[in-house]
Amino acid sequence: MISVDRKRCCYCGACVSVCPVDALDLQETRLVVRDSCMDCNDCISACPSGALRAEGDSDTASDEAQDRYQVVVVGGGPAGSVAAWEAARRGLSVLLVEKRQEIGSPVRCAEGLTPGALDGLVDADSRWISARVRRAKIAVVREGIEHDWRPAAVPEAACESGVGYVVERRVFDRSLAERASAAGARVVVKTAVTGLLQEDGRVVGVEARGPWGSRRIRSEVVIGADGIESRIGAWAGLDTTLPLADLMSCAQFLLAGIDIDPECTYYYLDPEIAPGGYVWIFPKGEGQANVGLGIQADLISEAPIDLLTRFIEGRRFLARGSPVTMVMGGVPVALPPAALVTSGCMLVGDAARQVDPLTGGGIANGMRAGRLAAQVAARAIGDGDMGRGALRSYEQAWQDGIGRDMARNYRLRVRFPPNERLSERFLRVFAMSIGAGK
Ligand code: FAD
Repeated sequence: MISVDRKRCCYCGACVSVCPVDALDLQETRLVVRDSCMDCNDCISACPSGALRAEGDSDTASDEAQDRYQVVVVGGGPAGSVAAWEAARRGLSVLLVEKRQEIGSPVRCAEGLTPGALDGLVDADSRWISARVRRAKIAVVREGIEHDWRPAAVPEAACESGVGYVVERRVFDRSLAERASAAGARVVVKTAVTGLLQEDGRVVGVEARGPWGSRRIRSEVVIGADGIESRIGAWAGLDTTLPLADLMSCAQFLLAGIDIDPECTYYYLDPEIAPGGYVWIFPKGEGQANVGLGIQADLISEAPIDLLTRFIEGRRFLARGSPVTMVMGGVPVALPPAALVTSGCMLVGDAARQVDPLTGGGIANGMRAGRLAAQVAARAIGDGDMGRGALRSYEQAWQDGIGRDMARNYRLRVRFPPNERLSERFLRVFAMSIGAGK
């Protein structure tokens, strides 16, 4: 029977089209071989990535090759790409490793950026802007009845918010990786980091496995930008485990064919539908929007996707649309761990839990952290000291800057437990944090 090398399979379906006995089934991102396979091997000829093998054939990929870079960045999200870009710009040899076959996909994001979020990071580019947002509207739902809310001093129901963006993450993320590459970083996809190389209590590189075999890659600094599912921190001895109450469990549809203001973001605070979180409607151009919700994970009594479906079905202007993509994901709304670095290793972005605890926004924070970490790494490498003490200036700068705002917003989350999120005081704070009602 045919076997599938999952490190190589790119889920293209070419093999399925030539199978004469219906033995192959492409289940989204998983190719399944059924017992009806009669070993005709037509699929092996059709496979463009060399992922299929007849029984008994061995993997010909080279194993245990070795490379060396000054900086290895794990994860090609916004935090990782900006870290790689900044490090390469400073003349370091950099490898950016991404486990998915396409940077930026699948999207796990509502793609909203509050006004000013990208200031000083990257110039706005029409290739990745889906919508320019000029207004934000907050609705509160008490006992099933919806009211618009606005700060007392603001006359309009919709608050002018300055210009924020809803981006197209697929293009946005890829454009950041392209910048890293243009600055001299080497970018590889479909390659997963599977462990850290450690010597004398110091991280000295990574083990990576891709379609073409395993590699031990030595580096002076490893930057873990491996997102919510991060393992780098744990492997390096940093505790990044999230308490359930510090995770938002999220579900979202991109709805097409709806009637919304394409320049307005909508937030619904409804303790029944989204306890501890909120529902969002972020426009993505005429007639479409990301419609999703996040629920504090320890308060979940019904799957978020089912609650979202109910929210949509209860509103005619949304229910008339069709979901054209579906997104599931987790957002850390915790305080970043006290330690973000250890000898030879730094964490950035979701891996370092650097998401705003009130809004769940993490794109810009991750990018700022990536840049800061790369600057500190460059200095440490220049000084020849990559020990924890030298890398700690990143940790310190983070805690003295954005980390301080995060800590304040975390305290506010705790001060206003889910059943007090409709209070006037909380709504004011929330409006400020989404860039409305200033
Ligand atoms: P990620 O973007 O998650 O990138 C991490 C990368 O690392 C991934 O590509 C992953 O494949 C790769 N990786 C992981 N492990 C390995 C490994 N072992 N080897 C190689 N590669 C690896 N933020 C906002 O600012 N605005 C929003 O509107 C918003 N909405 C959200 C809605 C939802 C439903 C969710 C889930 C999140 C949302 N966020 C939002 C948060 C935002 O998506 C994240 O904060 C942001 O993507 C963090 O960037 P990052 O680079 O740290 O991680």
